[in-house]
Amino acid sequence: MPNDKYYHQKRHKEWAEKVLKRAGYLCEECKRYGRLDKDGQPVRATTAHHEKPRDKYPELQYVVSNGKALCEKCHNKKHPEKGGEHGHYWR
Ligand SMILES: [Zn+2]
Ligand SMILES: [Zn+2]
Repeated sequence: MPNDKYYHQKRHKEWAEKVLKRAGYLCEECKRYGRLDKDGQPVRATTAHHEKPRDKYPELQYVVSNGKALCEKCHNKKHPEKGGEHGHYWR
């Protein structure tokens, strides 16, 4: 298995795309709480988040069911320890 950065970026992008697509490109957290954006529309997801973190579960990093489609706001809440920053390639 190649271990170069480009390979992982590509795989991550494919994974993120599948996660977002599965959620219909809507934020799963906002949807769960019935939150809408300022125009009264469902909140769009911009980021695929790992439910189980990559550093602890590297074998799950490309598993679609370990992914969650989130908007920027909800995603930042998932990573308070990094002050809103996150270690994802995909934003
Ligand atoms: Zn959200
Ligand atoms: Zn995340």
